[in-house]
Amino acid sequence: MQKGNIGVTTENIFPVIKKFLYSDHEIFLREIVSNAVDATQKLRTLASKGELKEEAGDLTVRVSVDKDKGTLTVSDRGIGMTAEEIDKYINQIAFSGANDFLDKYKEDANAIIGHFGLGFYSAFMVSKKVEIVTKSWQEGSQAVRWTCDGSPEFTIEDDKREDRGTDIIMYLDDDCKEFLEDHKVEELLRKYCHFLPIAVAFGKKKEWKDGKQVETDEDNVINDTTPLWTKKPADLKDEDYKKFYRDLYPMTDEPLFWIHLNVDYPFNLTGILYFPKVKSNFDLQKNKIQLYCNQVFVTDSVEGIVPDFLTLLHGVIDSPDIPLNVSRSYLQSDSNVKKISTYISKKVSDRLSQLFKNDRKDFEAKWDDIKIFIHYGMLSEQDFYDKAKAFALLKDTEGKFYTYDEYKTLIEGQQTDKDGNLIYLYAQNRDDQYAYIEAAQAKGYNVLLMDGELDAAMCGKFEEKMEKSRFVRVDSDVIDRLIVKEDAKKDELEASKKEVLQEVFSTQMPKMDKTEFHVEAQPMGETAAPVVITQSEYMRRMKDMARLQPGMAFYGEMPDMMNVVLNSDHTLIKNVLEESEKAVGEALKPIDAEIAGLTARRDSINQQNKDLKWDEIPQERKDDLSATEKSIDEQRDKKKALIADYAKDNKVVHQLIDLALLQNGLLRGEALNRFVRRSIELI
Ligand code: ADP
Repeated sequence: MQKGNIGVTTENIFPVIKKFLYSDHEIFLREIVSNAVDATQKLRTLASKGELKEEAGDLTVRVSVDKDKGTLTVSDRGIGMTAEEIDKYINQIAFSGANDFLDKYKEDANAIIGHFGLGFYSAFMVSKKVEIVTKSWQEGSQAVRWTCDGSPEFTIEDDKREDRGTDIIMYLDDDCKEFLEDHKVEELLRKYCHFLPIAVAFGKKKEWKDGKQVETDEDNVINDTTPLWTKKPADLKDEDYKKFYRDLYPMTDEPLFWIHLNVDYPFNLTGILYFPKVKSNFDLQKNKIQLYCNQVFVTDSVEGIVPDFLTLLHGVIDSPDIPLNVSRSYLQSDSNVKKISTYISKKVSDRLSQLFKNDRKDFEAKWDDIKIFIHYGMLSEQDFYDKAKAFALLKDTEGKFYTYDEYKTLIEGQQTDKDGNLIYLYAQNRDDQYAYIEAAQAKGYNVLLMDGELDAAMCGKFEEKMEKSRFVRVDSDVIDRLIVKEDAKKDELEASKKEVLQEVFSTQMPKMDKTEFHVEAQPMGETAAPVVITQSEYMRRMKDMARLQPGMAFYGEMPDMMNVVLNSDHTLIKNVLEESEKAVGEALKPIDAEIAGLTARRDSINQQNKDLKWDEIPQERKDDLSATEKSIDEQRDKKKALIADYAKDNKVVHQLIDLALLQNGLLRGEALNRFVRRSIELI
């Protein structure tokens, strides 16, 4: 028997491994099983070259637990090791500059393990003692047993093992006994070893017999050694891709489509990316892509490796060129990784473009499901926007699809305003904004349907990208003011009449929590609605964004500012005005005269003060000014009260207001009930 010290320059590597790697310690199994798989693949290569003198035989890697001994064992029939090889590969660990490195990456077990090539030593994260029992493939080699109890001391001695290959026997720590549980081991194997290229068996398959589970003779192989992405796309059918998807994500809907990645230059990468069907945007899940390195599972958090917007896709990526065992920040700055990210992004846009060209009907049918991915991509990546703008679609409220160019051509003639701006009209909900859509269509305009979560952001993006173009929701103003034409009708109503009309309505607007109404009169043509309620595009977008971004709470707190536009061309409004004037005209005359007098007085005082600083104005005059202003306010209030008193019993006014509110979903509860009763009376 031989004794020695493991060649570590720091005093002791094991406490380091245990302490720093604790959080990630389940990866030990991946490391040990992949070593077994590597050794087996090497043996296969030797056998195929005819260098192996014996039969290769069954090459299954076997994982087993012995609850009595407290051991977890990984056995292979690979190339094995001689005593010299153990000394070289296991005992001599390069371990220089360790302290600095450990300090930097203490949170990241992968980084440490990768940096030091400590794959095998990760067994000590969970074991108080590890044994290697191994016999090399080379003819006449002596089997050896290496034992180490977690101190830098090890022993190595001859062993009676006759079969070629290696057993790694881990005597588990008392606090790691969970790795003796079948279900735990199986779970880890399925997570980390699901697609390893050599069969990995954990015990025997079980079946139900006489109400009991009994073992069969069949190996319980936990992996698929030739996963779909390793095969040639030409050899695969749609059903194969769908089946693989079901295996990866049981319980999910069929994917919309997929992209088979297959590159060998300038880097090596294979994989399959699926576009999942999402029922709602709340369904979106990142981290559904699994990353593999030569079929060894590495991680399912792929940020920084695939472009951010593609993290919403599902599937697998396998590349030996991604430096896997390094920290995340390193990964993100790695130039290989950047190339890969760009490549994947390009592949995805190529495939989408191809789908669009080959079968536009099908692409349109899928559009509502895929637009979230495409919009996310267009918003977050300049390159993707430039490619996607050729196949991204716009849908109008009639369900027709257009490319950006097609749509522009469609509306260019009609929807260009007097300043040459192209106005894109959109609705977010066809039912809620029905009347406005109809009003726009009556003018010969087209209205887009923008009902996606990212559509508001897309509007902003479009405006940034498309020259002289604006996006406005159909109900953000009356249609003639959304697209202002040269021949806009002159406002003919005199100011005093306008004021009466506005007051008649504004005094009767309901008091609502967090909603403010601003009433104005405007000629909109005889056939347009008598009263239209609109909300400014800017405020609405700000409030929409406030809902998505917590930092904008300020806008969220602001009341909804609604414009109530009275159509002064409409007969009903004309009637209201006429009757109001008849009813209160006489009574208003002295008040108006009073206001006119007071206003003249105020103006003349202001004229006198024009060139003076505030403290140069005589106190008398200041008092006079404030008294005059106060009187004006009083008269105005008086006027308002008079009009309000008249208007409160005007059923037409109330009916018109309620109808407009109703159309905007603003009439509820008691007010709605009152409206219904009034309507019945009117019938
Ligand atoms: P790495 O696998 O990154 O080289 P490890 O610490 O995991 O680092 O393993 C060190 C070396 O020990 C391997 O390169 C291999 O030569 C040898 N080795 C480990 N496990 C086995 C095994 N099951 N069979 C044969 N050789 C092995």
